[in-house]
Amino acid sequence: MSTLTAQKRPVSRPQGRPAPELIFGDLWEYDPAPETADPKLKARYELFIGGKFVAPKSGKYFDSINPANEQKLAQIAHANAADVNAAYAAAKKAFDTTWGKMPGKERAKYLYRLARLLQDRAREFAVAETLDGGKPIKESRDFDVPMAAAHFFYHAGWADKLDYVAPGRKVAPLGVVGQVIPWNFPLLMLAWKIAPALAMGNTVVLKPAETTSITALKFAELIQDAGLPPGVVNIVTGFGDTGAAVMGHPTAAKVAFTGSTEVGKIIMRSLAGTDKKMTMELGGKAANIVFDDAPIDQAVEGIINGIFFNQGHVCCAGSRLLVHEPIAERFLAKLKTRIKTLRVGDPLDKNTDIGAINSKEQLATITRLVAAGVKEGAKMFQPACSLPAKGYYFRPTVFSGVSMSHRIAREEIFGPVLSVLTFRTLDEAVEKANNTAYGLSAGVWTDKGSRILKMSTELKAGVVWANTYNKFDPTSPFGGYKESGFGREGGRQGLLDYCKLA
Ligand code: ADP
Repeated sequence: MSTLTAQKRPVSRPQGRPAPELIFGDLWEYDPAPETADPKLKARYELFIGGKFVAPKSGKYFDSINPANEQKLAQIAHANAADVNAAYAAAKKAFDTTWGKMPGKERAKYLYRLARLLQDRAREFAVAETLDGGKPIKESRDFDVPMAAAHFFYHAGWADKLDYVAPGRKVAPLGVVGQVIPWNFPLLMLAWKIAPALAMGNTVVLKPAETTSITALKFAELIQDAGLPPGVVNIVTGFGDTGAAVMGHPTAAKVAFTGSTEVGKIIMRSLAGTDKKMTMELGGKAANIVFDDAPIDQAVEGIINGIFFNQGHVCCAGSRLLVHEPIAERFLAKLKTRIKTLRVGDPLDKNTDIGAINSKEQLATITRLVAAGVKEGAKMFQPACSLPAKGYYFRPTVFSGVSMSHRIAREEIFGPVLSVLTFRTLDEAVEKANNTAYGLSAGVWTDKGSRILKMSTELKAGVVWANTYNKFDPTSPFGGYKESGFGREGGRQGLLDYCKLA
């Protein structure tokens, strides 16, 4: 429990604890409130192939670092092509001998079991996710882990009802599926990938991102505990070379990728001419559009939620704010006031809003693009908060006076950086929102239902949220337009991407 102490009063604190920084003008400051659940980490993680943890044939390991303090958390195996081969052989065997033949109602039992086991160990998984990825514990505890469990529950419910996925048609699994996921929602992206594939009767070879492999390997422990037949899920860890081997393997009947548009294009080029099914969930540059009749305070909160919580490490982050000219000045002032109250720091602290940037490389990318914004003449605002001395952190940043040609308005930054533009008419808002190579998501804030309907029809985005942002549900399909990719994850549509129709 955190105790509330007025910052202007002298605070008595246990010996040895440093004086709390008095960061925000007249704000209340909290005592540290770190989450203490034991993440039960191993010193070294092997590959998970054929139901067992096995040493990599490559003989190589790399370190997974805690981005909040730059300390090593664990050693992770670096799989080479021979390891990936072994994973595909195990997955193929499982498909041919057990999983692919099992009735849906039997597969459902395993998926329910996985969901419940994840719930049982939710705190432990949340802490592991936060340590490995840098996201605030309140995000991993309240969003990532429960939502991952929800995906397994939802797809368990489908496994014995697959005749209703495409009424009037017969569905059949594809075979072995290769999946590569990014570092922003490590466990949740795993759930988005594995749950529908398994419900449909496919088996899986999955590669997590190199900076965030730990929760995938902890999930492998759940697979053992749930008693899944060996080889149904195989987890190979490593870098881009391992990812390329997973995507390019001849045994894969389908590949599913979530990551950058740049890497997505490399994969698409390398698979051109093959008969593999493919789904891609790539980058985004979402616009959050606020009209003058919007509930202003809720909209401010929605904008903050859309880009600053989770360090902006969200492909559907609302990284562009389009605000109606009559309210622009007032809205920006309120936004800045709210930003000054965001707590940046230790991701394990339950009061932290903005945790650590996932890696040194990502921090360098954010820093470079922010410098480009300043150089191109946009006006930068950052609150005067101090950052921890060790670890990768970035202050929440707002650019006003941004024009469509600025790099910060066009390129995906994947950090807590918001670019503010204004508009006068609905048509101008649509034009500016759609003027991007991406099309993953958008937000509309207005009191008028008719405006919401018009905007959601005209915006070229896979998801349009109205008077809310970043809301997810396993029943609701998610995916992009244009360079944000193709295919859907979640809902009935997501299942259709994992089956053959007859
Ligand atoms: P980000 O820019 O968000 O880090 P990336 O697209 O670089 O995203 O990485 C997403 C995932 O793709 C990671 O698991 C990474 O290891 C993997 N990856 C990187 N390069 C390749 C590649 N050439 N082929 C397949 N996977 C790759």
